[in-house]
Amino acid sequence: MNCPLIVVATRNPHKLVELRKLFGVPSAALRPVADFPDAPDVEEDGETFVANALIKARAVRDFTKAWALADDSGLEVDALDGAPGVYSARFAGVHGDDAANNRLLLGKLADVPAPQRTAHFSCAIALVSPDGREFTATGICPGRILHDPRGSNGFGYDPLFLPDGHDRTFAELESEVKCTFSHRAVAAAAMRETLQSLFVAR
Ligand code: IMP
Repeated sequence: MNCPLIVVATRNPHKLVELRKLFGVPSAALRPVADFPDAPDVEEDGETFVANALIKARAVRDFTKAWALADDSGLEVDALDGAPGVYSARFAGVHGDDAANNRLLLGKLADVPAPQRTAHFSCAIALVSPDGREFTATGICPGRILHDPRGSNGFGYDPLFLPDGHDRTFAELESEVKCTFSHRAVAAAAMRETLQSLFVAR
């Protein structure tokens, strides 16, 4: 495989490990943006997950002049017209306050009965090249929102999310199991196809 350096726009080392496994490209080819300490933080002000993934990837590409890859994800609840959506991380106001976000979500759904508590996680991954080419992949994981949290694994809305076809929440599942069918896994599988077709010598 003739894979160039790809800078991954995440400061989360777990995500990098996961992506290295999922993409099937040489580990050394995927470098974290943390290796470029002066890379700017960019405002994620897109209206969709794809827009935000592209904003992050382009910013890293423009700074490093290398291929860049970024992801963006969140929860979309049908009874809330798709909220919290791109605001998932800061639903309750403070970025990354998972407990407050979960409390707010349960409050907004207090009067919504089980059959109407359908939701899905969405993930978008964007890959951009130094010469301006752009590739995106998306994935979803459908399920529903419980009335009470269950489990302590994972992060974010995991304790409230029961994925379709499972009897354990994302937070009750082992992370290795969640990683086989999550929204990120589905998007990553699609991006893996793109990477293989771009960089595997035929
Ligand atoms: P990020 O774009 O991956 O950083 O995710 C943004 C926000 O979406 C997170 O802060 C979480 O609130 C939510 N989120 C995304 N993916 C997941 C997941 O797999 N489980 C739980 N929450 C998630």
